[in-house]
Formats: sequence, C-alpha cells, structure tokens
Amino acid sequence: MRSRPVTAGNNRRKRANIHGNTFMSSTMRKKTKRIHVGQVAVGGDSAITVQSMTNTDTADVPATVAQILRLEAAGCEIIRVAVPDEDAATAIARIKKEINIPLIADVHFDYRLAIASASAGADGLRINPGNIGGDDKIAAVVRVAKDLNLPIRIGVNSGSVEKDILKKHGGPLPEALVESALRSIDRLASLDFNQIKLSIKSSDVINTIAAYRLISRKTDVPLHVGVTEAGGLYAGIVKSAMGIGTLLMEGIGDTIRVSLTRDPVEEVRVGFEILKALHIRQRGPEIISCPTCGRCRIDLFGLAEELEKRLLTRTAPVKIAIMGCVVNGPGEAKEADVGIAGGDGIGILFKKGKVIKKFPEDRLADELMAAVDQWEKTWSTEDLENK
Ligand code: SF4
Repeated sequence: MRSRPVTAGNNRRKRANIHGNTFMSSTMRKKTKRIHVGQVAVGGDSAITVQSMTNTDTADVPATVAQILRLEAAGCEIIRVAVPDEDAATAIARIKKEINIPLIADVHFDYRLAIASASAGADGLRINPGNIGGDDKIAAVVRVAKDLNLPIRIGVNSGSVEKDILKKHGGPLPEALVESALRSIDRLASLDFNQIKLSIKSSDVINTIAAYRLISRKTDVPLHVGVTEAGGLYAGIVKSAMGIGTLLMEGIGDTIRVSLTRDPVEEVRVGFEILKALHIRQRGPEIISCPTCGRCRIDLFGLAEELEKRLLTRTAPVKIAIMGCVVNGPGEAKEADVGIAGGDGIGILFKKGKVIKKFPEDRLADELMAAVDQWEKTWSTEDLENK
C-alpha cells in the first residue's frame, strides 16, 4: 500500500515538513482514491477538508441558506443537510442557488428521498445501505448517482449495523462496524459504482479509532472521519480532538466532521483547530493567549473572546498573541507576528517580542485588528512556505 506525507497539498508541504518533523518522519498519510463532491476533491493527495451539517429545518430555505453562508464564512468546505421528507428534498434546488459549497443530502430509510435529492441538485448523497432497503432500491439510487456523477457516502454507525453482523460480533464492536462497512462497499461495487466515501463512526472514541484503523487497512475508499454524537462543547471538543486527531496523526482520514451539540459554526472552528494543531492546514490566525495570573490587570478573557469573534472569518495564518501584562507578555509571546498586552490603562502592540506602539487600553482590540489588517497586506503564500 502506497503512502504519502500528511499535507494539505504541495504548497503546504514545506511548512508541514518544517514544523512537523518528528510527526512527519513517522507518519504517512494513507493513500486513498480521489473522488469529487461537487468541485471539492476528497481523498488521494487533496487537502483534508472540513465539513459540517446544518441543524435547521432543511425545508426552511432562508434559515438553511443563512446557516450555510455563516458556515462558509467560517471555512466550511462541504455541507450536509438532513432530508427527512419530500419538502426537504425539493428545497435542495432552491438552497443550491444561494450557496457556494457542495451540498450532500443525508437520507435514511427512504431510497426515493435520495433520488429526489439527487434530482434536486445535491452534489452527493449520504446513505446507509444497511437501512435504505433491498438490492433493487440500492440499485435505483446508484443508477441516479451514476447518471449525475454523484458520490455516495456510506455512513456506518453503531446504530446501523445489520442484525446478523451484530449477532456474530456480540454488539456494535469495531469489527462489526468494519464488516458492515465492507458489506456496503461490496454492494455498491457489485453495481459497478466506486465514487464512494466511507464513515464508520461510534460515539465511543476508542471504538471509533479502532474501527477506522481496521477499515483503513482493508480499503482504499476515502474516509470521512469523526466521532458521532460527541456531545456538548467540552466533551465534544475533547472527544473529537482525541478521535480525529489520533487518526490524522496516523495518516488516516481525508475529510473530517466535528460533531457538537452546538451551532455548527463551532464544529468548523474546532475542525480547523485540530488541523492547525497537527500542522496539516493553516487556515486563519493562530491565537496564543496567556491563562492570566496575579499580574493581569485587564479583562483578558473578554478581550480574547471579542477578538476570536472578530477574527473568525480571517484566512491568513498570522500568529497572534493576546497577553495579560505588559511586563511579561511580549517576552512570553516572542514567536507571535503581532501581539497585544495591557494593564493600568495602557495598551501595547508588539511584533516578534518587540514593543512597537503604546495607546490607551480601551484601544487594544482595534489596534490589534489594524495590525492584523496590515500583516495580511504583506503576507503571501511564499511567506507561508518560509515561515
Ligand atoms: S503574560 Fe503576564 S498575566 Fe499573562 S500569565 Fe504571563 S505574567 Fe501572567
């Protein structure tokens, strides 16, 4: 089986090599097939993409479009919508006119909804052959997917494993998820269909990791990685970082979805933070902020929160420091491209540890944003290569 380095693409290779030496030398990304969801490539040597799922009523077109546009602004690259009924399926045509990223229709049980979604303009389908019905129904969905050149994601999870497989393995263990997934891949392959993506999720992190490790050895189908029903913000972030992060470190995963019981914009933010932490992709600023201590004389928590929001849609990889005191802040954050610190009514701006400007404390956020604007004007992808 051929492997390749974990990078977002050629232009990221150098940075990833520089910053991830130990990791890079021991980890190679598993070589998978390349497919396309709309204009976005998944698998092969394409970038590891971040996706999410709307939680609006899909048939409520204005609400769904508004949420997808917010997700796009946060960097979401593929969006999935639930299609529980005919209204949702037909709404896809109107949603597609208003958005810019590929849309996947998520269908359970009723194969006709998958066909209706494809006809309405979905860029891909997510089904589970285990619950979509008999061979004739699968064949009908595959026929439409072939005609329209759409990929299908097989979404296996603990709740979708076939009864005979559950019985054989004594429950939804990783081996059972893998057997169910392989059965579904075979069913589609027997129909001469290979535009397939696969997810094999469990809400248990250890089982998820074990299942992906196993399936990754048995197929070169591109893998959509995530921990399902991961929970609220804290549990969800920890589980996703552990599950997705561990797999990516092992070179497993072509597209990721963080699952949180929250605004899906948070899922996209966390997804990119995981990729950034592993030096796989560098979208947006990296924020360093101190935990504060007894020397802090400003509302650093409020300031950091405000700036995180204001920086959410920025894409340049500027390293930003938000520090709690002027004495130690610049020195503790020497590696930052731009940084601020404050206290006792004074604010300072520093670059690479050097103080370059002083101003009243209430201008801290605005001065930092102005410095980021300036940094972005001079930044280029070449800088990223040399960073
Ligand atoms: S930067 Fe200042 S406030 Fe923040 S942890 Fe360091 S010493 Fe404490």
